Amino acid sequence: MTAHTTNLMGLGKKELKDFFLSIGEKEYRARQVMKWIHQRGVSDISLMTNLSKSLRQKLLKTCEIKLPEVIYQKDSKDGTRKWVISVGEGDLIEMVLIPERKRATLCISSQVGCAVNCSFCATGKQGFSRNLDLEEIIGQLWVAENSFGTPREKGKRNITNVVMMGMGEPLLNFDPVVKAIELMLDDNAYRLSKRKVTLSTSGFVPQIDKLSEVSDVALAISLHAPNDELRNQLVPVNKKYPIEKLLDAVNRYVESCQDSRVTTIEYILIDKINDSIELAEELAELLKKLPCKINLIPFNSIKNSGYKRPSGNRVKRFQQFLQSKGYVVTIRSTRGDDIMAACGQLVGQVNDRTRKKERKKKEGYIKTELI
Ligand code: SAH
Ligand code: SF4
Repeated sequence: MTAHTTNLMGLGKKELKDFFLSIGEKEYRARQVMKWIHQRGVSDISLMTNLSKSLRQKLLKTCEIKLPEVIYQKDSKDGTRKWVISVGEGDLIEMVLIPERKRATLCISSQVGCAVNCSFCATGKQGFSRNLDLEEIIGQLWVAENSFGTPREKGKRNITNVVMMGMGEPLLNFDPVVKAIELMLDDNAYRLSKRKVTLSTSGFVPQIDKLSEVSDVALAISLHAPNDELRNQLVPVNKKYPIEKLLDAVNRYVESCQDSRVTTIEYILIDKINDSIELAEELAELLKKLPCKINLIPFNSIKNSGYKRPSGNRVKRFQQFLQSKGYVVTIRSTRGDDIMAACGQLVGQVNDRTRKKERKKKEGYIKTELI
């Protein structure tokens, strides 16, 4: 491949159109190729039989469809599957597939590491290395869809939900994330419902506003505390965008959506830190005017955090209090924690030998301790 090879996996909806126009082809070719790659899971240009032979030849000379390099894959006892993908220079990302009876949810990463540095999060402790490109974000969905082994005929797809709750803060990698979302929703690509693609954010206010201008996917807010004093300690970005400003932005986002929306409020429960009934009361008061459901996430252990997961009883008590105030409150089940695939445990973990080999390829990786 030459330096000028175009990776078709890395082109969003608009770029695909521009690309075909730029090589003197009709715009509808973009739609055909998008269907081949993203809807039918085909990565071999020569198999794209509704393109003329000469066009296929032209594409074979100038393009590639680069697939993510999966270096590790493991299934959990509970059916959760985790992949580790190498994105070059020693950088590793993870994605997790959580199959349930009627749906299959894929949790994908948007950055290598994360700079937000929440005190309870393994990805945050790892530090930030770089943003993922579009091809690396959408490539995760491509790999997971294709892993089902059945040819993706028109109309057939296996993954029903995507959550951007893997490594990284999606709103700090805005353009590639939005382009990936466009492909997820497109009828000629993954055809997911906008209510079933969820972007989770730790709370970047200007970017929430910016998102409302270009998309209306489901929003999840990592709140984790009902007051600024506590949230400042857990989610440092709160010092810049405190709770009131954040909830205002969420309201603006909900209002900008065409249909009625319920925002998910994520609340990690850490023993004796944010799980008291007084705080549940404060939370119930705070969220009174927001159409929302609350997702409680019992803390998953990470190294050197000093935090503990509360007992089942404490978690139940917190939930029941909020329910008594009329909230819909779910407890996120801890799936995949035997393979370190649960929330907050994603750090691109592989065995030591593979990691060392990958790491050697890159110097100056910002941080440190992998679990
Ligand atoms: N950066 C985004 C999305 C990725 S984090 C965000 O913060 O929303 C996805 C979810 O996992 C967040 O709700 C986060 O708070 C949660 N999480 C992080 N570390 C965790 C841990 N140790 N135990 C349980 N949940 C955790
Ligand atoms: Fe980053 Fe989200 Fe982890 Fe916070 S919880 S450090 S924002 S990935």
